[in-house]
Amino acid sequence: PGCLYIVPTPIGNLSDISARALEVLSKVDLIAAEDTRHSSRLLGHYQIATRTISMHTHNEQQRTGLLINKLNEGMSIALISDAGTPLISDPGYSLVNSCRNEGLQVIALPGPCALTTALSASGLPTDTFTFFGFLPVKQQAKAEKLLAAAGMGHTAVFYEAPRRIADTLKVCKANLSEHTEYVLAKELTKSFETFVAGSVDDLLDYLAKDPAHAKGEFVLLLYCKSQQIEGIPEGASALLSDLLPLMP
Ligand code: SAM
Repeated sequence: PGCLYIVPTPIGNLSDISARALEVLSKVDLIAAEDTRHSSRLLGHYQIATRTISMHTHNEQQRTGLLINKLNEGMSIALISDAGTPLISDPGYSLVNSCRNEGLQVIALPGPCALTTALSASGLPTDTFTFFGFLPVKQQAKAEKLLAAAGMGHTAVFYEAPRRIADTLKVCKANLSEHTEYVLAKELTKSFETFVAGSVDDLLDYLAKDPAHAKGEFVLLLYCKSQQIEGIPEGASALLSDLLPLMP
């Protein structure tokens, strides 16, 4: 049978693609892309003529069956998403899970990812961190997730859409401890890459200062050192933070 390659692509800067990624994309029989039109720009830029097929959130289940058949027939396939590492807040889980269940070979190439890029330059602790992907849209669920994240006592990382970033920071302001440290990583690897670090008010001020500041792509990171609540033993306060997201 063939092999499935997970191939990360740039998150903004077209040069951020490895020699190995280009080699794999050129030599495979088929590229499964989140949006074939979007990826044709990258493939065109590097003169890669490999055939593409779409695989996105809405057809991933059906495509999985088809691609598994092709792998079993001996085809090699590369999976790419619009930007960064496939499966990280992007399609691909169903396909990789099925490959593993069928004993098909999966090879992942390391490469660009907004999560690791933002975290490594954030200045927040990196020894332990949790990645939450996108926050829930509903206010109550969002507040609960943020509270649970801040309560863990280590760095929490979120992806956020530009139209929601200011609202999310307001929910942080209303719910989280004033000791929470924030970093907003914006437009990573692009010309207007910016890191804003400080309190929630510092980040809100930055967004309000210029309409251009609220546009683009964002990773939000926060860190709240766990505080010993007086009278509550250490283990119990950790247990409380674990239970918080389960509360009605
Ligand atoms: N798979 C991608 C990765 O490896 O990072 C993430 C895909 S997810 C659908 C898109 C989100 O990632 C954006 O809404 C934003 O939060 C984050 N993101 C992607 N590129 C970014 C960049 N250049 N700067 C900051 N955040 C970025």
